[in-house]
Amino acid sequence: MPSKLLIIGACGQIGSELTTKLREIHGVDNVIASDINTRKLDLVNSGPFEIIDAKNFNAIKDCCKHHNIDTIYLMAALLSATGEKYPMEAWDLNMNSLFHVLNLAKGGTIKKVYWPSSIAVFGPTTPREYTPQHTVCEPTTVYGITKQVGERWCEYYHKKYGVDVRSIRYPGIISHKTMPGGGTTDYAVDIYHEALKHGTYECFLSKDTMLPMMFMDDAIKATIDLMQAPSEAITIRSAYNLAAISFTPQQIYESIKRHLPDFSITYQPDFRQAIADSWPSSIDDSVARKDWHWQHHYSLDGMTEVMLNELKKIYPQ
Ligand code: NAD
Repeated sequence: MPSKLLIIGACGQIGSELTTKLREIHGVDNVIASDINTRKLDLVNSGPFEIIDAKNFNAIKDCCKHHNIDTIYLMAALLSATGEKYPMEAWDLNMNSLFHVLNLAKGGTIKKVYWPSSIAVFGPTTPREYTPQHTVCEPTTVYGITKQVGERWCEYYHKKYGVDVRSIRYPGIISHKTMPGGGTTDYAVDIYHEALKHGTYECFLSKDTMLPMMFMDDAIKATIDLMQAPSEAITIRSAYNLAAISFTPQQIYESIKRHLPDFSITYQPDFRQAIADSWPSSIDDSVARKDWHWQHHYSLDGMTEVMLNELKKIYPQ
């Protein structure tokens, strides 16, 4: 019998592109997309879709039973910037949805779980450059706290109950297909849209704020590679460090300016600057590279070329 997958939070920035890729790999009917809303109509109409509130254990359980689900990708969460505005909601959604899925998997019918963590698990006391896999994690955002605690619970459920749960600490993810959902790295998507729409961009981080980032295609590839790896190869059951490119707002601006010479930028740091300042500037992902042969493909300039070429179809010059 083919594996049947449930994606929770499938209409989000990563969830929607992950769902599309998983449907290509496993067949449309074997990938059930779900979200609390139907805002990605193309996704809703292109295969099986269920409205599910990730905070509702019975709704997840009933859906799994109805569709014979054996693998869950839990992509629903409140992200870093939104989490600071709604801390209790972030705690409620990010923690309870994870417990629901881990508890279902503990029961045995769910064989594999994917749950993304984030570089937000790190904090100001973490070594900022080439941050190791095992290091100090004292996050200062609600979002980071939920990811750090979530990692501990994933490892606990694996050790105690044998749950096959896998996770990645995503850096900031950049895509031309989907808009970001309220994170501190959102500027690195907005800047491409504004460059083409208005020729100018006001950045909410300072020009020298270096953060780890990744093009969406690399993030989807990493997620699928990790989930396809044999269980015995997975040595990290909290979450893997994952890296591709690190750059500052000034560097992405210069990368875009090489294609759009009249593009200009101004800097107006807001509350997100403090969040960015608490995160690493680069990540050591050697364990992921060793365990499941992770390799990124896109450089900053390679990503800029794809982003501008694709977005020019939406904003013709
Ligand atoms: P997003 O905000 O774009 O999408 C989240 C989705 O969850 C949305 O479609 C939303 O409708 C849905 N959702 C919200 N509340 C829900 C609920 N109660 N029930 C069901 N669905 C609900 O987020 P994303 O960027 O796609 O992130 C996916 C995962 O990856 C999250 O766990 C996030 O923390 C993690 N992550 C993302 C990034 C990034 O740069 N995008 C970086 C690090 C980690």
